[in-house]
Amino acid sequence: MGSFDYDIGVIGGGAAGLTVVAGAARLGARVVLIEKEGRLGGDCLYHGCVPSKTLLHAARLYHQAKTMDRFGLPAVSPGPVDFRRVRARIREVIAAIEPHDSPARFCGLGAMVRQGQPVFVDEHVVCLGAERVSARFWVVATGSEPAVADVPGLSGVSFLTNKEVFDLDELPSSLLILGGGAIAVEMAQAFARLGSAVTILQRGAQLLSREDADMAALVQVRLEAEGVRCVLGFRATEVTREHGQTVVRGEQGTRACVFRGRNLLVAQGRRANTAGLGLAGLGIEESPRGLAVDGRLRTIRKNIFAAGDVTGQYQFTHAAGYEGGVVIANTVFRLPRAADHTWTPWCAYTEPELASIGLNEKRAQARGLNYTVWEEDFAANDRALAEGEGRGKLKMLVDERERPLGVQICGPRAGDLLGTWSAFFAGGMKLSTLASAVFPYPTLGEINKRVAGSLVGRKLFSERVRKGLALIFQLKGRADGQGCGLDGDDA
Ligand SMILES: Cc1cc2nc3c(=O)[nH]c(=O)nc-3n(C[C@H](O)[C@H](O)[C@H](O)COP(=O)(O)OP(=O)(O)OC[C@H]3O[C@@H](n4cnc5c(N)ncnc54)[C@H](O)[C@@H]3O)c2cc1C
Repeated sequence: MGSFDYDIGVIGGGAAGLTVVAGAARLGARVVLIEKEGRLGGDCLYHGCVPSKTLLHAARLYHQAKTMDRFGLPAVSPGPVDFRRVRARIREVIAAIEPHDSPARFCGLGAMVRQGQPVFVDEHVVCLGAERVSARFWVVATGSEPAVADVPGLSGVSFLTNKEVFDLDELPSSLLILGGGAIAVEMAQAFARLGSAVTILQRGAQLLSREDADMAALVQVRLEAEGVRCVLGFRATEVTREHGQTVVRGEQGTRACVFRGRNLLVAQGRRANTAGLGLAGLGIEESPRGLAVDGRLRTIRKNIFAAGDVTGQYQFTHAAGYEGGVVIANTVFRLPRAADHTWTPWCAYTEPELASIGLNEKRAQARGLNYTVWEEDFAANDRALAEGEGRGKLKMLVDERERPLGVQICGPRAGDLLGTWSAFFAGGMKLSTLASAVFPYPTLGEINKRVAGSLVGRKLFSERVRKGLALIFQLKGRADGQGCGLDGDDA
């Protein structure tokens, strides 16, 4: 096309970049992918979703084995965890997924895959070593890295991040975790269940600070019940290494505190990978908070797009994939499509899981919206009770016209249950449709139908409808005037 080597150049072979490359190449565009590592797949495959969910599953099984008597089964005491075997299992899962993200697959789709760290020379040309590579459109999809707060002493001690924690040689006897977001709580539960003494040191007043406090509290209660110590409102002031332990000193309110652990995991959020690409030379600000983009994911240079974690917005694999699709629409189809994250869901995969779509109370209040909350407890879900998972709830917010604004679920398989709501919102469905659908019994998914049914049913079972039916069909009202037949006194 024109005088460019490629139609589309993609920098970074993670979820966002690979979505663009696969889609654009299959649609017949000439695409080059430049990845700095010798492998594709990005954080999700090697240091994120895949290893974390594999670790959480191993920990869940181990925890279940140790708590079998809850289910009327003989108690067992499995031996201690050999983390090298857990690590081997994590590597096996990564290896099973790897072929899907292999350079061979993308070459097979017709793309060119190159290794290196390109630097922009102008908006169409990058330098890759001594070579110049040009493309009509560029997509920066370089992802993010762990953000490490500027705590005195931290840079002088060795600590873990998501890049090292899945590769440990042994289970830490004790683990301090700085941070209280999804990565922190997932790792806290996994390591605690495997046998580490875990302490979460969280700056905010609650865990999972984006979520409503009552929902996050359900996760915290379970973590604490499983032995995780949660220290909230904690400000770290110094980190040192003393006698083979990492020591974190800080303040909780006015109280000075000291915590010691064999290892320290830093999970304090993410910083966008924007440096070293020569973006500043093009007038694009290289902020660690993310590259600024317009609705169509274009930087101020309209032919340079950014997608995925590097935008600093919705740092999830499915969001990266979605944004990759938006870039394809804008570049290959030349459609002015904007990214719309109104219904982008997310989930913390602890037990209970905490999944969210749309507005929760915090976000609705921040927008000054009037809303009502409809709740359903897992305690009223037969399947959850059968499986010993009757704790947790679903919260649906509706606006003044009773249209759903968002759904939050904290309970068993909440992430999977939220899929119904993704389809609900994407399809512009009505609550009455969901309420009238027949769900298999007994399933956790009935909680979705039930919350819809309680709102819709309130209108159906109203006094007005009762009076109307009584009038039309001469209904005779309640039958329990002489007492209920099964009541002992009336027999
Ligand atoms: C522990 C953990 C658990 C997570 N769990 C989940 C989860 O359960 N569900 C979920 O949806 N999300 C999860 N995430 C988030 C998810 O991993 C990211 O949102 C996703 O990987 C972002 O994809 P991306 O393509 O934007 O970036 P990445 O996957 O990070 O890919 C960026 C790529 O760009 C390359 N690159 C960087 N700089 C350059 C450069 N200068 N030149 C060339 N290449 C470069 C990198 O090597 C990398 O391959 C988790 C993250 C972590 C850390």
